[in-house]
Amino acid sequence: MLRKNRLFTPGPTPLLPAAQTAMASFTAHHRTADFRALFQRVLADMKEFIGTQNNALVLACSGTGMMEASVSNLTSPGDTVLVLSAGNFGERWVGLAKAFGCRVDLLSATYGETFSLEDIRARLNPSVRAVFVQATESSTGVRHDIEGIAKIVRTQGDETLLVVDAITGLGTTHLNVDGWGVDFIIGGSQKALMVPPGVAYCAVSERAWRRMDTTTSPRFYFDLRKERKAAAKGESAYTPPTSLFAALGAALEFIRGMGNGDLAKGRDALIDNAELCAAMTRAGAEALGLKLFANSPGAALTAISSPEGIDSGKIIKEFRESFDAVVANGQGEMKGHLFRIAHIGYYDYLDTIGILGALEHVLARVTGKAVDYGSAVRAAQEVYARELSEKRQSVGA
Ligand SMILES: *Cc1c(COP(=O)(O)O)cnc(C)c1O
Repeated sequence: MLRKNRLFTPGPTPLLPAAQTAMASFTAHHRTADFRALFQRVLADMKEFIGTQNNALVLACSGTGMMEASVSNLTSPGDTVLVLSAGNFGERWVGLAKAFGCRVDLLSATYGETFSLEDIRARLNPSVRAVFVQATESSTGVRHDIEGIAKIVRTQGDETLLVVDAITGLGTTHLNVDGWGVDFIIGGSQKALMVPPGVAYCAVSERAWRRMDTTTSPRFYFDLRKERKAAAKGESAYTPPTSLFAALGAALEFIRGMGNGDLAKGRDALIDNAELCAAMTRAGAEALGLKLFANSPGAALTAISSPEGIDSGKIIKEFRESFDAVVANGQGEMKGHLFRIAHIGYYDYLDTIGILGALEHVLARVTGKAVDYGSAVRAAQEVYARELSEKRQSVGA
């Protein structure tokens, strides 16, 4: 059969066609009124997408670049920081904090699990300058309780900042950034925003801006105070990725359209969409007798354990060869043990039903055992039908 190349990876995710056209046709120089207008609109929309009154910044770098900026701007060498790690991305915080000379207190959760809030409380004291965590740990599919964590961190007053890598959390999880007191939240273009990799964004609290005036870690390109100053004039400090800004403008407009003109509502609709795709996928996988890897799964992706004795690389390969569908393997130590199907960003009902139909064939092929064709799809259909009827009842239709 003809095969269409499709990404089911939790970053990069499928591109929004309107964003692709916008970036292909954008040519304005960055120090012009045209670009300034676009730049200011993207920053304003970004605040709404993140759901914050704090300043948002957008920088040319991958998500890890903005993670680094949070460390270099908010800490000084010798500072004690608490890293909450439950997978590959949590471990990235450890590497970053150590690279900038922080003393890292590490609280780890087993892969596939999240933290006990009691353990976090026990590790906090006024000498902890910052807490670093993921909203969703993309290597395991787990969602962490940012509201609960923020509540504990905020009992420390202004001494301890809360930094959240929400690179796959934004657009898949309801996050009350200001209400909970998140000081630094990070997103990336290649995830929920449906545009190519190359841009990361953040929102920074007043508490965190004040911290930047006293920290002494080296920074130059990533000196966020410079970016803030330039942004106030409608510009970025250095040459911005102009075409990616055009793409972001189109993507944020698309999300606004999902909310019938209200960007915050559109973001919530995007989150609900990911939640429904995730619920359908979980039901489908379980109907095939597969085990879910995460015990508090988020909506960004579903991590599924490979059947006993089967390297998940075989599953990835079969998806690719039979259907040209790109599904993600496990990362680090989890490689070979699980596979990950994304729901973050531009996925719909047909994508979800399609990948589950393909999964039935892939499983039959790699296990050599009979599969009850339609069982994954049926389970997903039931989830979808239930959701639809609940929605109809709630609007009284
Ligand atoms: C994708 C991702 C990142 C950023 O990775 P980059 O390759 O640097 O863009 C960071 N954290 C999480 C949780 C992610 O999913």
